[in-house]
Amino acid sequence: MIEVSELKNQLHTNMFENLSEHNHEQILVCNDNQTGLKALIAIHNTVLGPGLGGTRMWKYNNESEAVRDVLRLSRGMTYKASISGLNLGGAKAVIIGDARTQKNEALMRRFGRFVNNLAGKYITAEDVGTTTQDMEYVNMETDHVVGLPESRGGGGDPSPVTAYGVYVGIKASAKHKWGSDSLAGKKVAVMGVGKVGMHLLEDLHKDGAKCYVSDMNEAALKEAAERFGAVVVSGDDIYDTDAEIFAPCALGGILNNDTIDRLKCEIVAGAANNQLEDEDIHGDMLVNKGILYAPDFLINAGGLINVYSEYTGYHRENAIRDTERIYDTLTKIYNLAESEGIHTQAAATHLAEKRITDIMHVQSTI
Ligand code: NAD
Repeated sequence: MIEVSELKNQLHTNMFENLSEHNHEQILVCNDNQTGLKALIAIHNTVLGPGLGGTRMWKYNNESEAVRDVLRLSRGMTYKASISGLNLGGAKAVIIGDARTQKNEALMRRFGRFVNNLAGKYITAEDVGTTTQDMEYVNMETDHVVGLPESRGGGGDPSPVTAYGVYVGIKASAKHKWGSDSLAGKKVAVMGVGKVGMHLLEDLHKDGAKCYVSDMNEAALKEAAERFGAVVVSGDDIYDTDAEIFAPCALGGILNNDTIDRLKCEIVAGAANNQLEDEDIHGDMLVNKGILYAPDFLINAGGLINVYSEYTGYHRENAIRDTERIYDTLTKIYNLAESEGIHTQAAATHLAEKRITDIMHVQSTI
């Protein structure tokens, strides 16, 4: 378990260096001895609106890992919101600890009070290690929370909408690459059949795609095979699968020096956050291999669009309609990347940054 004194030392040593590297606005260190809460809330950019981002509860190996994660994830949220046309900024929270053994009502409510102290500059939601039930506890202490259960007027689990956005993004990628967005007969390798991956399989299967799946969860693999006729691939072999499309729906950092050479696909389009281990090196490597890469923060924005819709008065149909815009935005990014001679992640980042700069200008006018 990380001691708060160590965390403070670490932050004191590198705090401004950490924040200024990507121009983060603020980081809040939250501690409560009674509940054992140790959390960080990072606010990256609030030009477009309040920073919205989920709360991750994770057993980090050391405090710098937690700091790095919250800074990296909050920045990703800024880009995701901006490119999706939402009036939201980027932020994220991490609670340091084991979600299975250390999470309880008091801890989540104490965290909710810290969120409340930020007076709406940060809006939280569920993420890895937290659930809609946890957001109900947070909601007992603050209104600045989304991702509530449907029974409480919320949007419930955002994963089906995220998966739908990925499906729409895969179709846009197919259209750009092959001139048709039909996936009938296309082979798709899906890495990770958890909440998003399983819903994605459903959409792909309906469209007549042939799916290959990997996961360490045997029950999920069995379900994928039984419900959607998916072919199970063992472990890492998913990278070598002879499929036109590779959809990473598990971990980040999986597109790297070791894996890119193994890929046989023509398109990489999946839900996982931060897929490129190094954005520039591996973004360019994919271009050089002739692989079209769907920028992760754009193609997986359906979940954010869904919770944003909750913030403004939830209607599932609106969330779905707004998620469908991923198709056109992705097409625009592919065209921009080609005309500028840059990789697609860079094109998406430029477009997201441009919207922030443009709106900052609007806000500075009378
Ligand atoms: P999940 O935990 O439900 O599913 C992830 C699955 O990946 C699990 O079944 C896990 O066993 C499997 N897995 C882990 N390591 C693997 C490996 N090496 N090879 C194959 N399978 C592996 O998570 P999720 O909600 O489905 O999210 C999947 C990814 O999409 C994550 O990166 C998440 O950050 C991202 N994402 C999710 C949402 C959402 O709405 N849930 C939104 C945006 C982005």
